[in-house]
Amino acid sequence: MPPHRSHPRPQSEPGPQSEGAAPQSEGAAPPHDGPAAGRFAPSPSGDLHMGNLRTALLAWLFARTTGRGFLLRVEDLDRVRPGAEDRQLADLRALGLDWDGPVSHQSQRRVGYDEAIGKLAAAGLVYECYCTRREILHAPSAPHAPDGAYPGTCRDLTPVQRAERRAARPCPALRLRSGVAEYTVTDVLHGEYTGMVDDLVLRRGDGTPAYNLAVVVDDAAQGIDQVVRGDDLLSSAPRQAHLAATLGLTVPEYAHVPLVLGPLGKRLAKRDGAVTLADLAAADSDAGAEPGAVAARALSSIAVSLRLAEPGEAVTVETLRARFSPSSLPRGPWVYHPA
Ligand code: GLU
Repeated sequence: MPPHRSHPRPQSEPGPQSEGAAPQSEGAAPPHDGPAAGRFAPSPSGDLHMGNLRTALLAWLFARTTGRGFLLRVEDLDRVRPGAEDRQLADLRALGLDWDGPVSHQSQRRVGYDEAIGKLAAAGLVYECYCTRREILHAPSAPHAPDGAYPGTCRDLTPVQRAERRAARPCPALRLRSGVAEYTVTDVLHGEYTGMVDDLVLRRGDGTPAYNLAVVVDDAAQGIDQVVRGDDLLSSAPRQAHLAATLGLTVPEYAHVPLVLGPLGKRLAKRDGAVTLADLAAADSDAGAEPGAVAARALSSIAVSLRLAEPGEAVTVETLRARFSPSSLPRGPWVYHPA
């Protein structure tokens, strides 16, 4: 990977004319012209568990060892649990991670999403979709369409059909008229990865910008050219990259890192026991241990799982930064056994 890349000015970012934003809106932020960056983008739906913390550490290591900035973006368009964001940030700091500039929030970036949809609509690439989830599930799939792809029910309706459907569902979702069935991305860990692209949702029926749109618009507006995240999102990358390319934005480099599994071999979750720093601290305080020791121990065990430390070795993120090399990362999932 090159140590540093200049980042061309993304085309969809708000220019000086975008004054419609509320004064506090992060959507009206000045165009990005700093160095390229990586990021961690948690959803504030609960506390970060060992798997999320490991992904955050990896995103930081990838960025900080390639001369990139590192940004934190809270993906709060839905699933917000009160207090979760503060606890997530505190846990990241407790591990020793830092980030550049203020934390951004998707809920403050609506202007950017609306602009992107406007640009796509002007190019004739947006259509209203009146389908319910159930209808999509039960619709016969289009010929040659892969499983799970939107079958295109609302793609080419006549004006009369559209009016009928709109009467039944006055708040339609908006979909991208995508034009391709698949797209190939480059991933540092997975190589060339080709995945399905369908007419993905851009804005949900309730008006909320869709995750795929928000992520693409934000990554470009923030100058993010390296996306490191869990490999459960690998299959979303082709859709997002295609959307970025359609919007004329730079497609980032991806590194989809292995997930952390619980003792039963399923994705790590609360049900697996003490999986967050707060859980571990609660267990520790019963045993009379010092609270600050929890994050240090969690960092050490994550580092061991990444083959960056010996079992029981005390490490800091700076030590790990000096040892990190993407090529020696374990490629399989880490099975975490809560104490
Ligand atoms: N907010 C997403 C999550 O917490 C991550 C999205 C991304 O990294 O692109 O799963």
